Formats: sequence, structure tokens, C-alpha cells
Amino acid sequence: MTIHGEDDILQVRSFGVCFYVLRDSSSLYLIDGGFIGGVSSLRRALKLAGWEAYPIKGIILTHGHLDHILNVSNLVDATGAWVAAPTLDQGHYDGLPTYKGLSKLVGVMEKLGRLLFGFRAFQVDRYLNDGDLITISGGLRVVHLPGHTEGHCGLYSESRKLLFAGDLFASLGRFSHLPPRIFNRDEKALRVSVGKALDLDLTRVLPNHCDRSTGEEHLKRLRSIAYRL
Ligand SMILES: [Zn+2]
Repeated sequence: MTIHGEDDILQVRSFGVCFYVLRDSSSLYLIDGGFIGGVSSLRRALKLAGWEAYPIKGIILTHGHLDHILNVSNLVDATGAWVAAPTLDQGHYDGLPTYKGLSKLVGVMEKLGRLLFGFRAFQVDRYLNDGDLITISGGLRVVHLPGHTEGHCGLYSESRKLLFAGDLFASLGRFSHLPPRIFNRDEKALRVSVGKALDLDLTRVLPNHCDRSTGEEHLKRLRSIAYRL
């Protein structure tokens, strides 16, 4: 389903997480790669949008958690797309992430998930750091928003006043929330990142864990989370 008000952004919903497809003239770019069933959900969504003949040229990652990167190797094999990803989450792309404190439990879950779902390590073609510009779809600025993971980044479209927010928060109606503590590397840094995101000139945000509300509604929820921090 294309995003309300944007006929060149598609939201692909798969098991517990969604991801995005951007169409730039006749090329497609993914923001994250989904989780279990993500590839078939992507295929269905592209067909529905009438985009199935367009080549997928690149995959941009917001961070290295398994529910965002599980399908990257398969997608690269199938499409030849390049991968751009935050520098500081390299361990995740290698299948060797390090976790500390409470989030060690997530490390155990991910290890199991990598085995069960056949994760394969992948090469990054371009490393992303705060302030970098990706020159697709009118330009996407990389905004380092650490805390959830060390490298976690948002992608900001200045022309649309829109932030792809990754896992900065989950937008689920009355149950909207910051990611649960066990999923976060650094709780304090995450809170600082929420402020940094909201300092951008925004009319909409699109997170990866969300219901089908509009980007305007997601932004309203993020602001109300920030207000309560
Ligand atoms: Zn995550």
C-alpha cells in the first residue's frame, strides 16, 4: 500500500515489522529488508502497486537487528542491489553482534533466530554516518539516532519533511512506546535520540513497527512519547 499522500513510497507489512520501498523514476530502493515472510510480502506489495517490473537497485538499513536484515543476503542475490548500512552495527551484518546488560537476552534470541531462519552474513557497499546524503528520491539525509543499537540511524527527506525513523519508537495507537528496554543498547542515548529526531523540521515520521496510521499520526504519537519522557 502506498503511503498516504506519497505515490512513490510503499509500506510492506510482514511478520511483526514493516519496511519501505521508494520508487525513484524507474528504480526501487528498500529501507530495511523485513523479517520472516518479508520477501513474499514484498513481492505481493510490488505486484499490487504495479511496480514488479522495476529493478531493486539498493537496500538501505536503519540498523542491524535481525527483523530488519534477515532477508538482505537473499535480496542481494536475487537483485544485485547495493547495501548501505550504519557503520557502527557491523557486527550484526557479520552475524556476530555484541550485546551488553539486559539486551544480552536479545543476543540469545537473535542467535537462535539466525540459525532457525537461515540468516547469512552480507557485505556492506556503503557505510552510513551522521550527516551523509544518499542521493535518491530527492535526497535522504542520514541522522544517527543511537540507543536502540549503537549504529541506529533515521533517514530524513528534507523536501518531504519526513523521517524514516527505524526503531526509534513503535507506533501502535494507545500502546505507542519506545522500544522495550531489553532491545536497547543504551537507554539514555535513545532518549537523547528522540529529542534529536524531533528537532528536525517534520510533518511525518514512518517507523518500522507501526499500525496503518498516517505519517502525521505517527509523528503526533512520537511527540506525545517525548512529552512524557
Ligand atoms: Zn530493532
